[in-house]
Amino acid sequence: MARIAFTQAVLFDSVAGVLRPHATVVVQDELIVDVLFGDVRIDDARIVDVGGRTLMPGLIDAHVHVTSTVPDFMKLGMMPASLIAAQSKDIVEGMLARGFTTVRDAAGADHGLVQAIEQGYFQGPRLFIAGQAISQTGGHGDTRPIGVKTMMCTCAGLGMLGTIADGVGEVRRAAREQIRNGAHQIKVMAGGGVSSPTDPIDGTQYSLEELRAVCEEADAANTYVMAHAYSPKAIIRAVQSGVKSIEHGNLLDEAAAREMRRQGAWYVPTLATYDSLAREGASLGWPQAMLDKLDRVKARGLEAIRIAHAEGVPIAFGTDLLGTMHDDQSNEFTLRAQAMGAAAILQGATSIAARMMGQEGRLGVVAPGAIADLIVVDGDPLADLSLLQQQGAHLPVIMKAGRWVRNRLG
Ligand SMILES: [Zn+2]
Repeated sequence: MARIAFTQAVLFDSVAGVLRPHATVVVQDELIVDVLFGDVRIDDARIVDVGGRTLMPGLIDAHVHVTSTVPDFMKLGMMPASLIAAQSKDIVEGMLARGFTTVRDAAGADHGLVQAIEQGYFQGPRLFIAGQAISQTGGHGDTRPIGVKTMMCTCAGLGMLGTIADGVGEVRRAAREQIRNGAHQIKVMAGGGVSSPTDPIDGTQYSLEELRAVCEEADAANTYVMAHAYSPKAIIRAVQSGVKSIEHGNLLDEAAAREMRRQGAWYVPTLATYDSLAREGASLGWPQAMLDKLDRVKARGLEAIRIAHAEGVPIAFGTDLLGTMHDDQSNEFTLRAQAMGAAAILQGATSIAARMMGQEGRLGVVAPGAIADLIVVDGDPLADLSLLQQQGAHLPVIMKAGRWVRNRLG
């Protein structure tokens, strides 16, 4: 029975979005068992004096691709799964070192990687995987350049971002296949994308019948659907079909945000990837059509967050980075600060993301009964979000499920 008590902490209450001073948090095995305030006496526990620093839940990134070890999807599709797995080790370790104790993979990671982390082969965040994203022919998950005639492999495979399915029967089968292979949630491509060669960014993808069928299959397996969508029309069709979270959503307007709110949907913007791609996109050898699409959505990212925030849509943290750009993950915090307050941003990376993922009370909160995923920030992140940057340099403590990832407080 290992008991650890964090004392003299300023606790970030991720539900209320406020700091609470003079807190003591007691961890036993993998759970938080007590959260106390004021002068308290703790017996039979190892004391870790936080010294007035901020103690908060481990961070959650709700849109990552841990197997996107290179930023070129065609190349990734030709790489051996074993090599991708080996390379993804650095990516998950980097995320955990930045304080992310849970991430939601938006396509690519498989059940083997979930187990590799659980069994301790890789030090990484807890993974919630989507398996392969379900895409229509010519949709965002169809990475074949124009004119390429060969069929895409629809076999499940590490690093394979998309599987192509057309028609209600095929999309049902594709959704069931992801669930059979251990997916925690289903990802569907409901509109055009930046990194796919032939689809218009403001187009819609899939018929309403197909979208509804995917959502029905997810619901039947007690899970939900996350949808890639940019345009108001694609967003509205998706949430009206039962999609729970809208990914990227850069072109959303008031009407789309209102419909998201009405349908109880979440919004997961991913500003970090556009910011990184804008710096590195040209050197990646992307064709001009893709760079043009990138410019268009990047310019609208902050405005989309302002609109959704004003309409009261819950906004979760996401980044969507690829390859070496993963180091830019925590830039998302400061990028978002131009559109919303620090407390709401941190809630998006804790309690709000957890609720979206069906993990309310279990993850993203410091409360009795929650899993002991904790970080200590050397300073006040509400006053300075950049404390979460620099690859976790300002995080003297990182704990995942009651186990030390890092403890520099002794
Ligand atoms: Zn993505």
